[in-house]
Amino acid sequence: MTDDSKSLFGELFQPPARNVVPVLVPMPAPTAYSYAVPPGLTVEPGSIVQVPLGPRQVIGVVWDGGEDKGVDPKKLREITKVFDCPPLDGDMRAFLDWIAAYTLSPPGYVARMALRAPAAFDPEPMIEGLRFSGYRPEKITPAREKVLALTADGLSWTKSGLAHACGVSTSVIDGLLKQGVFEQVFLPPPPLVALPDPDFAAHRLAGPQKEAADEILAMQRKGGFAVALIDGVTGSGKTEVYFEAIAETLRQGKQVLILLPEIALTANFLERFQDRFGAKPGEWHSDLATRTREKVWRQVATGEIRVVAGARSALFLPFENLGLIIVDEEHDPAFKQEDRVFYNARDMAVVRARIAGFPVVLVSATPSVESQVNCLAGRYERIHLPTRFADAAMPDLHLIDMRRHPPERGGFLSPILLRSVGKAVERGEQALLFLNRRGYAPLTLCRVCGHRFQCPQCSSWLVEHRFRGQIQCHQCGYHEPTPNACPECGTLDHLVACGPGVERIAEEVERHFPDARTLVLSSDLGGVKRLRLELEAIANGEADIVIGTQLVAKGHNFPLMTLVGIIDADIGLSNGDPRAAERTFQLLSQVTGRAGRTGRKSLGLIQTFQPQHPVMQALVSGDASAFYEREIVEREKAQLPPYGRLVSIIVSADMRAEAEGHARGLRQAAPQESGIMVLGPAEAPLALIRGRHRFRLLIHGRRTNDMQTFVRAMIDRGPKERRSIQVQIDVDPQSFL
Ligand code: ADP
Ligand code: ZN
Repeated sequence: MTDDSKSLFGELFQPPARNVVPVLVPMPAPTAYSYAVPPGLTVEPGSIVQVPLGPRQVIGVVWDGGEDKGVDPKKLREITKVFDCPPLDGDMRAFLDWIAAYTLSPPGYVARMALRAPAAFDPEPMIEGLRFSGYRPEKITPAREKVLALTADGLSWTKSGLAHACGVSTSVIDGLLKQGVFEQVFLPPPPLVALPDPDFAAHRLAGPQKEAADEILAMQRKGGFAVALIDGVTGSGKTEVYFEAIAETLRQGKQVLILLPEIALTANFLERFQDRFGAKPGEWHSDLATRTREKVWRQVATGEIRVVAGARSALFLPFENLGLIIVDEEHDPAFKQEDRVFYNARDMAVVRARIAGFPVVLVSATPSVESQVNCLAGRYERIHLPTRFADAAMPDLHLIDMRRHPPERGGFLSPILLRSVGKAVERGEQALLFLNRRGYAPLTLCRVCGHRFQCPQCSSWLVEHRFRGQIQCHQCGYHEPTPNACPECGTLDHLVACGPGVERIAEEVERHFPDARTLVLSSDLGGVKRLRLELEAIANGEADIVIGTQLVAKGHNFPLMTLVGIIDADIGLSNGDPRAAERTFQLLSQVTGRAGRTGRKSLGLIQTFQPQHPVMQALVSGDASAFYEREIVEREKAQLPPYGRLVSIIVSADMRAEAEGHARGLRQAAPQESGIMVLGPAEAPLALIRGRHRFRLLIHGRRTNDMQTFVRAMIDRGPKERRSIQVQIDVDPQSFL
């Protein structure tokens, strides 16, 4: 139609209705917003787009759902841009919808987790390269000859790559370029990691490992959704077994995701992967440089990266063709995100696999009660590896009853532990002393007036960090120089440290072993880079005595470590958490499991005031199953997860009364439903964080109850949320503080 005809028929023809699509934007709105698709743009569900939102432009994703009949497209704002990248596929969208519904989170916030690398949505720029044009220059030098010889085959090079390969300076190449020896070409950006080869260097699996791998293989070949739990002691070869599952998925041409807690610190995992598959996996965690993140995101979407090893947020990467998820250390609390969208990556991995129809492998030496119950119920398949590989013995574990073998005054290490540390050092071996407390002392007080140093914004004590000369809040990071005088009574030099932190243990160790090389490993003592170096140094035997918080517990392999001492095994037992016993057992098993991984005879000493406690007995008897059986019976009796369901709601506000009032209002709004009980509101154990007062409600239901509908009803019928109020919903909570 010409312009003329348009004006002619203008009266008769309505312009075609503009297409209206729902777009999820990163906002706490309950549904997607409608946007108009301007002529010239095409979108489909999953397209990543830029849209105006208020005065800003934001990134959003076109969602499913038909046209909203009630809206007049003319009144809608238009999509500004469609990014040139693969749309989020239907499985991914279904997954995000599922999480939003289950965790009671705004779908826009959930979608945002899948859009965490903004610049990745545009294709990576091509890079400039050179190719031999066929023209040979008249003047030939030896340097030029080298370059010509290498490029004669007509393949493309980057300038710097060519100079490097020939061992000449780039000016040589510039000279040739000027004379027309090369033509310019554009090369696709290089892949971040090479392709892993499933048959690069497989280990021969030992008997039980082989059986385990075969079971998983059978599951994979059958196809479809299934969950296996590899339950095997540290060093039994769980990693070897799941490497075989990864190889199988690679052979099927599909991608693999390995979820690991603290991936940033497990450099040796990446190396091990490379030894097995000839290439590193793509890495994904919060310590990646932005550019690298964007590349990973993009190359996962295009399928160039076949295997990703990542932290929990890697679940939201836009895999082109995901075929397997491994969740290593599946019991680890680090898989729970407790910020904005509260989710457990282990559970969501299972959901993602169910939606897309592929297998998941959970892995742990101390599986969560949840996963064990799922095995008992036949929902997951349990694969058991009861012994260490190659007859490496488990460490010999003993309890030290601190009532009978107290440390000397002012100390925290019993004479038995000190003696064993001395012997290990004499033998040229390493000792690890574990205490899950950063800093020097968890509490500082004035000996004269009893004043305790408390955070001005939180209900927590300030922790002394002597290395840095500060007292610090571990909730909000508030810190101040350690004072000389008590701010209450003014007395000088009368502040006392109460209780131990790793720095204080180091002081005690240095007093007893002045010649030993002592190293404190704690997340506050340096960034990821430094910690990586220190972990490497330990593995290389460059320290004799290591004093560490839980970050030493995770997956590291220290060949010389033959003694592990637990300074205070009772720490986590009495904190009101229904999983306290389970968590303590898991953590202490993992820490003591660091000893003797490479065949040396090894020892674990556990300092406790409660040697009769079932956790302590389970640790030393090596009989985890009796402990778990009891835990499971008790959970069932109390209808605690996984037999019952919990949802926690935290209401916070600047004013205490406001927080409490809102929490009460929610409680009153709770519908009547058989099986569901609302507990509280009660002031949270951490009653104040960053100046906000916190009240807690706990909703307890049966396995069969629909908790989400119940909670939604509470929120909908409850008091209107004012700006000053924040309501956090945590489905399946792990933290009760
Ligand atoms: P887990 O994951 O259960 O802690 P790993 O897979 O890390 O156990 O195995 C412990 C150690 O034993 C590793 O150094 C690993 O390379 C070695 N290992 C285990 N199985 C084999 C095998 N079949 N062949 C060679 N080395 C093995
Ligand atoms: Zn604080």
